Amino acid sequence: MGLKTNLKPSSDLNWLKPSGTTEASEKVKKMQKEGKDVVDLTRGQPEPPDFTIPRGLKMGAIEALRKNKTGYTSTAGIWELREKIAEDISEELGVGYGPEEIAICPGGRGAIHVALEVIIDIYSHHDWVSYTVPAWSQYPQEIKYVGGTPKGIRLKAPFKPVAKDFEKALDHQLMAAILLNSPNNPTGAIMDEEELKKLAKNIKATDGHHGFREPIAVIEDRLYKDIVYDPRYPARSIVSVDPDFKERTLIVDGISKTFNATGLRIGWVVGPKQLIDKATLILGLIPGNANSVFQYATFLALTKYRKETDRELETFLRRHKRRRDFAYRELHRLLKLSRPEGAFYLWASVEELVGRGKKYASSKEWADALLERKLVGVIPGEEFDYPGYIRLNTAVTMGNLKKGVQRIKEFVGETIKENEREAEKQKREEVERRKEAEIKDN
Ligand code: PLP
Repeated sequence: MGLKTNLKPSSDLNWLKPSGTTEASEKVKKMQKEGKDVVDLTRGQPEPPDFTIPRGLKMGAIEALRKNKTGYTSTAGIWELREKIAEDISEELGVGYGPEEIAICPGGRGAIHVALEVIIDIYSHHDWVSYTVPAWSQYPQEIKYVGGTPKGIRLKAPFKPVAKDFEKALDHQLMAAILLNSPNNPTGAIMDEEELKKLAKNIKATDGHHGFREPIAVIEDRLYKDIVYDPRYPARSIVSVDPDFKERTLIVDGISKTFNATGLRIGWVVGPKQLIDKATLILGLIPGNANSVFQYATFLALTKYRKETDRELETFLRRHKRRRDFAYRELHRLLKLSRPEGAFYLWASVEELVGRGKKYASSKEWADALLERKLVGVIPGEEFDYPGYIRLNTAVTMGNLKKGVQRIKEFVGETIKENEREAEKQKREEVERRKEAEIKDN
């Protein structure tokens, strides 16, 4: 006899939603398993064999396993990796960081989670966290989960954030932190250095404004910082444009996107020691230290195998650029879109194709039909709180990208024709309705 139970999760977490991106990618996988020739441009992960983990990371993992580096590590991660990350970030930002100011986390998500939890904990009277929209779908959920209030700032095309976009939010007395993501998922936009400087100035100007308020903090999600297409315009950190910001900024980074290593779950959070100590306490509860083997492997990829790793990263960047250029060139005459400056997505408008009186009512419906009819998986804008758009992951093999883009072009053409037919049908129905009304009147 099985145990009879009536355990039900509490309604307190009913608002939690599964990631639409993950769901879409699982649907694609299921269709592929059924033997359908689906092109998967859904999930934000680079596709082998064109994007694989660097050899140094592989060699490092083998070395770590051979040396039995499989036990617990310090909760904040192995010291040598923290030292190496501190050295690299100090050099990049021109601001000194030590290993005690780094905590290794289970991926970027883990790092974002502890960063938000630490920040929200500091602020007892205010809990707003603002970020630009379209935004990675997990931000609002994470913010809510740690007790904050998500406040998206809606951007318009071409989606390049400027300091002015944040002005209203900064003025609000409940504002706790600004969350920046540059290069951005899904838009690929990078915030210009001058605008970042202005934003830093504006944030500082609010210090002490609302009496009880702690200074507004900054969280920077820099997971795509190494995937930038014009080296003259890198994605700067607010700490590098104003070193005073070190004291109120938590920087999130990791290997998922740069090393094509989304499954290995290595990320980190960087910030002032007292905040990193708090983050480490939280990590000690869930989930404990990040994967030991890949901590060592990351360390070796960044040290012993560094030259090789850097060479490979250059190759990957060239591949990303080729794909971005191809997808942009092929689609920009057909759909409104901005040329991504970084990351590996194309963020394209389907606003003119969908809506009232059209064949598909929303970008979600259009994306679903694209998958069913043309066998191409993309993520609809609804997932980024920005309906009317779609996001394509361009970090796939050139063969798949070409096939996917070709099918999208065909589907855009078919939708235009279907919309014309739909408009004619509606016109005819309107004429019929009028005629009937006239007959009745007579
Ligand atoms: N931040 C952004 C903007 C992302 O796009 C992603 C992954 O898609 C993450 C964080 C999560 O990174 P990770 O896979 O290292 O947890």
